[in-house]
Amino acid sequence: MQPVEIKNKRVTILGAERSGLGAAKLLAQHGAKLLVSENDALKFTAEKRELLASLNAKFEFGYHSDDVFDADFIVVSPGIPENAEIMEKLRAKQIPMYSEVEVASWFINEPIIAVTGSNGKTTTVNLIHHVLKSCGINSFLGGNVGQAISEVILARQSAQVEQAVFVLEVSSFQLDHVEKFHPNIALILNLSPDHLDRYDSAEAYYASKYRIWDNLDSGDVVGYNVDDERLEKVRKPAAQILGFGTTDSQHLFAARRDDQLGILQNGIFQPVLPVAELPIPGPHNVSNALACITAVSQFVSDGTKIGAALKTFTPVPHRIEYVDTIKGIRFYNDSKATNVASTAVAIQSFSEPEWVILGGKDKGGEFYTLAMALARHARKVLLVGKAAPIIARQLDGVVEMETVGTIDNAIDYALQYGHAGDVVLLSPGCASFDQFDNYEKRGEFFISIVKQRKEQLAP
Ligand code: ADP
Repeated sequence: MQPVEIKNKRVTILGAERSGLGAAKLLAQHGAKLLVSENDALKFTAEKRELLASLNAKFEFGYHSDDVFDADFIVVSPGIPENAEIMEKLRAKQIPMYSEVEVASWFINEPIIAVTGSNGKTTTVNLIHHVLKSCGINSFLGGNVGQAISEVILARQSAQVEQAVFVLEVSSFQLDHVEKFHPNIALILNLSPDHLDRYDSAEAYYASKYRIWDNLDSGDVVGYNVDDERLEKVRKPAAQILGFGTTDSQHLFAARRDDQLGILQNGIFQPVLPVAELPIPGPHNVSNALACITAVSQFVSDGTKIGAALKTFTPVPHRIEYVDTIKGIRFYNDSKATNVASTAVAIQSFSEPEWVILGGKDKGGEFYTLAMALARHARKVLLVGKAAPIIARQLDGVVEMETVGTIDNAIDYALQYGHAGDVVLLSPGCASFDQFDNYEKRGEFFISIVKQRKEQLAP
């Protein structure tokens, strides 16, 4: 599909990071005349200069000049908020604005599995990618995870394979600027409030997620989590609708029945894998595995093959990742828990007393919703980062808290007061940008301090 003729089109790319640079490469290949405009001067590097020069792209760092408006369309990076001054100006001038997902999808002529949701996207796309590959299907993975979709398309061009499937993780920010994006299989995993610093309301955020289904038709497949009430009720497009979940409804496609994951065919349950053999823990991962089964079943008819592949999946780092044990205390890195719902899931994944490290850059999170889980599981909450006072206020009187400021202080505090058998869980429920470049850096910092303390305390 290529509804837009690109050759000699004037395209402004706003934001010179992963997705913007990917789009620049792809569009340059198709003969677009590019301006890459990045308002942060610190994002300028010699490497980017070299790349952009090789693409014959004009570029500016540290400001947006009026040349930005001299464009047939704009590619907006997901990092730019809708209320940024430049976005207001672009809207006033009515220049079409697209996300990189939209633009890249114009160049994909093979099946697309797209996954969105508040939590579990990266885990699920990795599961799907792994299972497809294990079943002998060429799979290309990208989007919000790993490489930008444009880069994946370029990689696919040079891969000498006949037929392939694109597995794409799509965030709400990318869906804000789609128009023709048309996956063949589109899954929504779950919805819970997030990014309330960027959206006016939770409803506005959910509406972005639903846009993944906008262009689907009768030949396509909608997959959704039936256990999520909001998703169960929302109107679906005129496509094949496949529910997955753990209720005993007969209308499910992929389901959990007792201790098995499986597929319901004509009301008969076909086991795919015992839950105990899924290599990623917790009920949330059961849900992610069911989403995976729903998508992969469209390409692989033998459920036992899917089950065998699921068994060999390696967990994705920073998601309830075991780090080490010091003085009998187990440390887990769940730095990717950047919203309250994912932290809630992590807190409930252990039966041992927990030291929960919460905080970072707040996104309007409703931390009081953690009260019950914390009251049941936490020995103490250790507060870090800018959000500490907000969290302290919301959880006042519910659980013991200590403001320790930084993650290394939190680790030391837990080591000083914790007991053998306890769990220390970094599951911040916030973005990382107050103290770290991203959640990966935050998780790596946590791991490095745990490893350091282990060495220091070694007998
Ligand atoms: P995303 O890409 O949507 O952010 P990840 O797979 O990276 O999702 O997981 C993010 C966080 O959410 C992790 O902390 C993880 O433990 C938690 N999580 C994963 N799957 C789910 C789910 N289905 N429901 C709720 N939380 C989840």
